[in-house]
Amino acid sequence: MPIMNHILGFPRIGSQRELKQAQESYWSNQISREQLLKIGLDLRLQHWKKQKESEIDFVCVGDFSWYDHVLSTSMLLGNIPERHKNVNKCVDLDTLFYIARGIAPNRKPVAAAEMTKWFNTNYHYIVPEFVQDQTFSITWCQLFHEIDEALNYGYKVKPVILGPITYLWLGKTKGKDFNRLDLLRNLIPVYQEILSKIHEKGIDWIQIDEPILSLELSDEWLKAFELSYSFFSGNYKLLLTTFFDGIEHNLKTIVKLPVDGLHVDLVHGKYNLVELNNLVPEHWILSLGVINGRNIWKSDLKYWFNIIRTMLMVRKHVWVGASCSFLHCPVDLNSEKNISIEVKNWFSFAVQKCYEINLLTKALKSDNVSILEEWSNLLYTHNYSNQVNNPFVRSAINKIHKSDTVRSVPYVIRANLQKRKFGLPLLPTTTIGSFPQTNDIRKLRLDYKNKNINFDDYSAEIKKHIRNVISTQEELELDVLVHGEFERNDMVEYFGEHLHGFVFTDFGWVQSYGSRCVKPPIIVGDVYRSKKITTEWLQYAQSLTKKPVKAMLTGPVTILSWSFLREDLPKQIICNQIALALRDEVSDLESGGIHIIQIDEPALREGLPLKKSEWNEYLSWATKSFRITSSKVQDITQIHTHMCYCEFQDIMDAIVELDADVITIETARSDMELLRFFKKFKYPNEIGPGVYDIHSPNIPTISEIESLLSEAIKYIPIDRLWVNPDCGLKTRNWEETKLALKNMVIATKNMRKKNNS
Ligand code: GLN
Ligand code: ZN
Repeated sequence: MPIMNHILGFPRIGSQRELKQAQESYWSNQISREQLLKIGLDLRLQHWKKQKESEIDFVCVGDFSWYDHVLSTSMLLGNIPERHKNVNKCVDLDTLFYIARGIAPNRKPVAAAEMTKWFNTNYHYIVPEFVQDQTFSITWCQLFHEIDEALNYGYKVKPVILGPITYLWLGKTKGKDFNRLDLLRNLIPVYQEILSKIHEKGIDWIQIDEPILSLELSDEWLKAFELSYSFFSGNYKLLLTTFFDGIEHNLKTIVKLPVDGLHVDLVHGKYNLVELNNLVPEHWILSLGVINGRNIWKSDLKYWFNIIRTMLMVRKHVWVGASCSFLHCPVDLNSEKNISIEVKNWFSFAVQKCYEINLLTKALKSDNVSILEEWSNLLYTHNYSNQVNNPFVRSAINKIHKSDTVRSVPYVIRANLQKRKFGLPLLPTTTIGSFPQTNDIRKLRLDYKNKNINFDDYSAEIKKHIRNVISTQEELELDVLVHGEFERNDMVEYFGEHLHGFVFTDFGWVQSYGSRCVKPPIIVGDVYRSKKITTEWLQYAQSLTKKPVKAMLTGPVTILSWSFLREDLPKQIICNQIALALRDEVSDLESGGIHIIQIDEPALREGLPLKKSEWNEYLSWATKSFRITSSKVQDITQIHTHMCYCEFQDIMDAIVELDADVITIETARSDMELLRFFKKFKYPNEIGPGVYDIHSPNIPTISEIESLLSEAIKYIPIDRLWVNPDCGLKTRNWEETKLALKNMVIATKNMRKKNNS
């Protein structure tokens, strides 16, 4: 049977985050460039070897990158922002890091290129910058060198490149605005050259990634595909790869392109396979992405066997592979020593996923499903595990009623009651929750985690930090105080560790950006809370002051978005389970005398589906989940929420739907642009637009803050305005924090004086 297999990319970081260590050592001059290059080569060789061992038909080349593959593409194409160019115009590895970080040896610090999320993942890419009439030329030959390396080792190579239309889509114009598609004229010849150069090395198949085909594209962008790809009909064979969602809506355009194969993500796209088969030209390879590159579960190989087998009956050229690059899943499950065998049996990381592809291919080739039995059965044990299903949680979910999702009286009434209860001044000042996390505090948490100290000693120390932060806030004369979040390592991990249903790994790292990796918790079972999480710390903090202390929780949508999810329940059910668990905490906080509770939802926006037509459905269940957590409180209890981004114009209605009494948001980095938006759109409740940027070490001056506030009151009634930094202070040091907050309070007092009529 003519069936082949492949993967779309292997994680580049290494099973022990070797790449991260190497990058950071290079940046701090601890290793030489040669040493860094050697580590990169070793990683690639290891990754290719793994693919070969798993009998994957090609090794993927071009998936490695020193920082980010979009940045590598910019380097390849010679798209270097003017400020990052070397005087002699040459590019090298330091140019790449200079673009990404704004720092390079013998160069003055400049603004790094912007970074943003790669579609709906937690990976961030470096945004290409385009200027009018920009030209391109092959400039950085890393890709070609890597192909040679793999060929030298005797591997059968399938290079991967980012397609031109997606590349343009991902970038931003700088200077005078213009249509980025105008640049195709200059870009296409360079792509032609790249493709030919690869082909000259004796390579047939080239994977060309065009993930934007999952989006709902305008005609203009679809036409750009037709136009550009008509130039790509050399002797090479192009596999057009799409992933993260279905592409049926764009299929009519796609099938007209002169490519030789199409890869579809069957895990994340909803496909009618009969139709897909009918529409995709018979002579094309149809590559079926069935092994989920975005999650850590074993695949149900028996299920996929049946689907692919049916396809093989009607179609000659089929490939089997991963849904998307394994960039988005951890490297090797074998590194995990602290997960129980029962649970480990359910999981599969990149290395194991290669094995799955191999097993599935073997079964298909021999038309023998029985060899998949053992593998699929391991996954099925998840259904019966007593760690997974909790009847109480299930019945609580079924009992959620509309009244659980609305507060008993509208905001205007609550606001009056809350004003009376808290007696806050005009323009109340507060912070977002965390205060500087010093090495002492990190060591303390680690000592406790490693059982070097007992709970009593740990608790006594944390309380010391709480006392300190409360008295500092009193000295600063802030109005609504916080306890500082010293007990928390990470805002999702902390709550995951205190809820049932979560599992943690030691090495389940996934690249987030550059050398930064995240280790998402894994939700394996029904989520519930069996004991109080934060309440005691908060009560302690409140006992130290007459001012109100605000509690901080991470919201259900954020916990959901930043975890690996079980695949046997719809997302919204998992989200509601988290919401109910957090609601128990809200209720304990309230009975413990804490009446200001902030539920952070920084991930609300990033959970948006790729297709705009699906946004409403998502926003509707996501906001409902938030309200499950926040609504069953007394009228006098003030619910805050926080989101640290300012691009939420397009989800404004959903933010209003949350019905939080107060929202704190980021605006400081965008010149209060958002505020101007509020001129058109009246946010009905209270709002604290961040008055300074916590991401920068600069201390905001009193007059800067005053002028921002003067701007803010033009758009937001002063009695609904709060004053706060734009995010938590955990990454700042104490000195900066105190100076900045001091200025914030003085500016606020000045404003109060001016407006106390
Ligand atoms: N409460 C968290 C903090 O202050 C919020 C962090 C965030 O928005 N990302 O750190
Ligand atoms: Zn924030």
